[in-house]
Amino acid sequence: MSSKMLKFVSTDKAMPEKRKADARVADFDEIYSEFNTAKAEAQSSRCSQCGVPFCQINCPLHNNIPDWLMLTAEGRMQEAYELSSQTNNFPEICGRICPQDRLCEGSCVIEKGFESVTIGAVEKHITETAFAKGWVKPANPRFERQESIGIIGAGPAGLSAAEMLRHRGYQVHIYDRYDRVGGLMIYGIPGFKLEKSVVERRGQLLRDGGVKFHLGVDIGGETSFADIRSKHCALLVATGVYKARDIATPGSGLNGIVPALDYLTASNRKSLGDRVEEFESGALNAEGKNVVVIGGGDTAMDCLRTAIRQKAESVTCLYRRDRNNMPGSQREVRNAEEEGVIFKWLSSPQAFLGDDEVRAVLAQHIHLGQPDATGRQVPEVIEGSSHELPVDMVIKALGFDPENLPAMFGHKGLEVTRWGTLKVDWQTMMTNLDGVFAAGDIVRGASLVVWGVRDGRDAAEAIDKWIMTAVDAPLAAGASH
Ligand code: FAD
Ligand code: SF4
Ligand code: SF4
Repeated sequence: MSSKMLKFVSTDKAMPEKRKADARVADFDEIYSEFNTAKAEAQSSRCSQCGVPFCQINCPLHNNIPDWLMLTAEGRMQEAYELSSQTNNFPEICGRICPQDRLCEGSCVIEKGFESVTIGAVEKHITETAFAKGWVKPANPRFERQESIGIIGAGPAGLSAAEMLRHRGYQVHIYDRYDRVGGLMIYGIPGFKLEKSVVERRGQLLRDGGVKFHLGVDIGGETSFADIRSKHCALLVATGVYKARDIATPGSGLNGIVPALDYLTASNRKSLGDRVEEFESGALNAEGKNVVVIGGGDTAMDCLRTAIRQKAESVTCLYRRDRNNMPGSQREVRNAEEEGVIFKWLSSPQAFLGDDEVRAVLAQHIHLGQPDATGRQVPEVIEGSSHELPVDMVIKALGFDPENLPAMFGHKGLEVTRWGTLKVDWQTMMTNLDGVFAAGDIVRGASLVVWGVRDGRDAAEAIDKWIMTAVDAPLAAGASH
């Protein structure tokens, strides 16, 4: 083993520098800076090079983490990049926004006595170095194939599939109803977690590699699914999940109560320089308002921290479970607290009050009862605990479900699960329609970028296999005569 490694006993864990809360709430830029080379090498050298690396097992992409940590510690950055990019299409994005505490870093064995290796920050450093040095190249197939593949959805699942298919020489066309590339990476996730230029850089690289984007094209709207299907040898559906879950609470239709994604999209568009009418009118702008966000997931955290940056008067999170039982990342909760968000744990809305506009949330306290069949403790209302919280704006961040794709695509035969996600054969990633594959959130339900990348890569492989079998079949048939 390299003598550079196993330094966790002498070198403390260090994250890249985090900007001070009062500075970072003044803009939408990322809050963590970059490791410099010396720091990246020192942090990589803390890895103990486990024989059975649990970090790698628990990374959805099974990234070869111990090896690229060793290469980084030894200053062999180009090799580290080559290795890292073999298993991940967007390492600099995953390095920024994966919930590492639940994935690779949460499984790092040195965490038992020492703190984990800072895997995500090193992964980001490797690819940012590669971009700076010009090592990141567009997919450049050695030969062009005739077959064309259509992809619906330019989120991480569609984009990673596109890159893998281009590597194999296919003609790749991506259709998206948005006007920009990136899916939720561009219009959902705020810039303080993932700057937009990082996503745009990937979009450009794919264009440079020959991927054709057809933006502003709503499949199932003005362009029919059947039309797109007829144009391509195979189709990949990677449309994500966008139907916001609602809450059946009296008053939930009042003005001033808005869905999380509308709010975040308006903010992201504004950051990208677009003119956003609902932002200008104040409907989707928290400035000067008392804001309550309902929910405890990562989307809720993003709304809370966006409202702080829009200079809301006060920003409060209402969540019916406690801190230990929330779905969002603890790192994001700490960031939100530092930035001035107030958390009201074990609280839920009983009603929204107001005439036209919402003026208060009638909230009630909760205690956690016995676990249900899923093992989670059931929230139970504490009688007589109702109290009013004055508000000017309420943001509902309760999660997302799939839209009704069979109806949207005018293809009632397209099979879905009981949750409305597309049903695929997990071996082939194919839906029940011949040559129609699916990947990402539309198959898994709301998930993570890293799982989108994983599914996109798997789908590309499955599509290639399916086409190759079709190409080989006539040859094999010919050979037998
Ligand atoms: P999407 O990214 O949703 O992309 C789907 C694309 O399909 C979109 O561009 C959409 O416009 C397009 N589309 C849909 N229907 C049609 C149609 N009919 N015609 C044409 N185009 C269509 N994950 C993390 O790992 N870390 C995070 O920090 C994180 N934060 C998040 C914060 C928010 C606010 C949200 C909402 C999600 C977050 N996620 C995060 C989850 C992550 O963004 C998603 O899991 C991931 O983007 C899913 O990828 P996808 O490619 O399946 O779908
Ligand atoms: Fe960790 Fe995500 Fe990178 Fe995997 S892709 S090593 S889980 S940060
Ligand atoms: Fe290194 Fe931690 Fe992975 Fe072990 S689990 S190989 S110490 S990063």
